[in-house]
Amino acid sequence: MSERIPCVREGCDHMILPATAAKTGGYCMPCKQEMEREAHQRYIEANRRDVDLYAGITDAVKILKIMHEPRTYDELIRYVPYKNSMEQVYLSLSAEQQQEIKQYAMELIRSDDEDTGKDILQYLVCYHDLPLTAEIPELLEREIVYPAVLFKSASVETRDHLLQQVNTDDENRNHILIMLAYIGDEVVVQQFWRWKQSPPEWANELYVTPERYTLQAGWELTEEGQPRELFITPSYSLYEVGERNVAGREMENLDGAPVSLLVPSSSLCPWCSSSLISLMNLQVKHPALQSVLWNSPQLDVQTCLVCSSYSVVYMEMDATGNPIWSRHNVKPDGFDGIDMEEMRVDVSGVSSSTLDVGSLAGEGERTEVAREQVQRRLFRIASEPRQPFHGSEWAMEPSISQVGGHPGWVQDADYPACPACSATMKAIGQLDGELIQENGEGVYYMFACEPCQMTAVSYQQS
Ligand SMILES: [Zn+2]
Ligand SMILES: [Zn+2]
Ligand SMILES: [Zn+2]
Repeated sequence: MSERIPCVREGCDHMILPATAAKTGGYCMPCKQEMEREAHQRYIEANRRDVDLYAGITDAVKILKIMHEPRTYDELIRYVPYKNSMEQVYLSLSAEQQQEIKQYAMELIRSDDEDTGKDILQYLVCYHDLPLTAEIPELLEREIVYPAVLFKSASVETRDHLLQQVNTDDENRNHILIMLAYIGDEVVVQQFWRWKQSPPEWANELYVTPERYTLQAGWELTEEGQPRELFITPSYSLYEVGERNVAGREMENLDGAPVSLLVPSSSLCPWCSSSLISLMNLQVKHPALQSVLWNSPQLDVQTCLVCSSYSVVYMEMDATGNPIWSRHNVKPDGFDGIDMEEMRVDVSGVSSSTLDVGSLAGEGERTEVAREQVQRRLFRIASEPRQPFHGSEWAMEPSISQVGGHPGWVQDADYPACPACSATMKAIGQLDGELIQENGEGVYYMFACEPCQMTAVSYQQS
């Protein structure tokens, strides 16, 4: 056995065999590998070049084609991102350009890239409500059955075909039921109503009753068999002004009015003692709330950010129309075992801040400092409404935060029942977890029951 000798790298105390030292020049293997990595990194930094695939291109359709093209990874190339997000480029499309990129999507579907083709169609449907009536029969022929939102503009013939197919196609029944829910015309509503009264034979193969599928498309059947919309329209985007925008995007093209989001309240959560927070406080006379019957001049949706990530948190209005913690709230099982310190949510947006919502509960100076920091964040509501389904497909990474519009469910649709009257509560808006705090995840959903003047907040994450 030969005697081990120390690695020659300064600060390393590994002992190595003389044979290893002879091969490596005296270094231990971890040091040698580390030095090789560093050298490789220096090489990349010295030789990497920027490639701007968008240089000189102004046509939005061409830009989108490039954005959708798969990139081959090359460590010596750094692709310069386009100045606008994909969402913004889609929104800029003229009617002719929408047709042009739709044709391109169909070509992709006919060739070898079905997924990209479907993505493009989904953007067109969600951001522009572009009808795909002529394309839907071909999609079905190619056995494309999702995303279901693509099928909402199906013709009467296609609808009737799907109403037949759902009885026989065991494999795609789930998808067909959601497609039908999206189509949602009078005939479809009547069919769901008949299924509710007398469940079809195949109903016991489903996880939920057939009429529950309508929730995925944002409506339910009333006791009288009428459709009831479960989200309010129109939809307005909510966003932050300043450097910290959702997904780091510049949103300077949008010039909306100031809106009050994420303002801590003076009340404490009775479960975890965090400050309650006003997720959104909007004047009822704002056009976004034109369909909402609310008694107070403001619709103030308060919640506890910590507790609503575990369980639906309900608020009711006191005699003066101010939100108070609802007596209907039920603490979830096992809740007391959760480490609340771990769960604190920092909405101040000041990353260096050690203050959090919890510390706002304190008194005196600290509270004042924290309040100032919180209030430094400025939010806006878009000046123009957007399509009701704009924020509905979470996986497309649209700007999620909105008042009004179909919810962007991260998981299955989950509208809470009002604890006072047991009616399904209507979705009135949602905030992206990324908007709430840096590196935040998931989505907070806001609901209201107008007859009971109650609000609710729930949360989903992937
Ligand atoms: Zn070493
Ligand atoms: Zn709480
Ligand atoms: Zn109610």
